Amino acid sequence: MTTIAMANANTVTVQAEVINVRSGPGLAYDVTHQVRKNTVLKVIGEENKWYKVRFKDGNTGFVASWLVKNTEVSAASNSIAVVTSSGGLNIRKKPTSDSERLGMLNTGDQINVVSEQNGWAQIQYKGQNAWVNASYIKIRESTTKASGSNLQKLTIRDNATNIRNKPNLNGSVIEKADSGQSYSIDGVQGDWYKITTTSGKEGYVANWVVDISSSKEAAPVEKSKTTSLSEATIVIDPGHGGHDPGAKGADETIEKKATLKTAKILAEKLRKSGTKVIMTRESDEYVSLKTRTNIAQEYHADVFVSLHFDSVEEDQKSVHGQTTYYYKNKDESLAESINQSLGKELPTSNRGARIGDFYVVRENTQPAVLLELGYLSSKSDEKKINSKSYREHVATAVYQGLSNYFAN
Ligand SMILES: [Zn+2]
Repeated sequence: MTTIAMANANTVTVQAEVINVRSGPGLAYDVTHQVRKNTVLKVIGEENKWYKVRFKDGNTGFVASWLVKNTEVSAASNSIAVVTSSGGLNIRKKPTSDSERLGMLNTGDQINVVSEQNGWAQIQYKGQNAWVNASYIKIRESTTKASGSNLQKLTIRDNATNIRNKPNLNGSVIEKADSGQSYSIDGVQGDWYKITTTSGKEGYVANWVVDISSSKEAAPVEKSKTTSLSEATIVIDPGHGGHDPGAKGADETIEKKATLKTAKILAEKLRKSGTKVIMTRESDEYVSLKTRTNIAQEYHADVFVSLHFDSVEEDQKSVHGQTTYYYKNKDESLAESINQSLGKELPTSNRGARIGDFYVVRENTQPAVLLELGYLSSKSDEKKINSKSYREHVATAVYQGLSNYFAN
């Protein structure tokens, strides 16, 4: 279980190339529009692992929390400063003079200022955030001069980069610029470039937060399709585990091991496409059936997929093939979609999608299927199940089946 820490992060940055903004916290809600990679969004709430965000125009919407990354509140530009106080400068844990003292800087020390807040400058000290009183530091004046004549355009590197009214950190912020935004360079002053803001004002941006291009445009961001699969939350349930080994094959294949191996390949595949994946177990441990279905409910899973391998009695060794089970009528389309895909992909025979009375599908509050991916009691099936390529085929098929399910 994860709780998303909101304390330090009221803005988030879009990580995927393009993500959907929906009218509510889940796939069932309409897509109102899309936002592109590196867009910074203001978070005003969290529901069902989705962030409620507010846009500049005042509208709100929801984005999947796993497709964005938390950013610092004051994600201002980095800048180099020098300690000017004669007796050294205290490094504090928080931006207050009565906060715990972490260390001391000497006069003339050069520091990297991450951001500023109420007269305090944030720095990194021994791998953690720390603060110094900003009245005792001075922005370094650089002696290196860029050759102004060749410069035409600059491109902002990070989101929420400050554009100030003066060519130093004491200038007030008159505008924030986002990653990829570019400006013509009107002049150079020390380490700062003079530009014209989007609202037509004179502004300055630090040279260490921008890239310079003489004429060519910044490469456009490669577009990729946002699928519902990337916004989906999928719970993968590797059957059995711990003191419950599940079925055993003639060649000693143990079900609990085969289900976990297959689940891991599937999880990896889904995660690569942006899907939020939760495993009911990640190792050889016992997890009760109730806990497994609770996990699906807890995460408001869009789909719960349980992975198993079948077995039958001695005298039925000829039974073979894979079967997709569901319990509720509403889950039939999900089962059919996955089963069709398994049928196409797997070398084992396809026994179809059927109703099955299994706890994890019957008691699930979320759409659920249970896959029996071949018979360990069948010599020919067991041989296939034991190959890595079979497990990869299963992962590909389930992935494709889910993708088709969400696309329809
Ligand atoms: Zn089983």
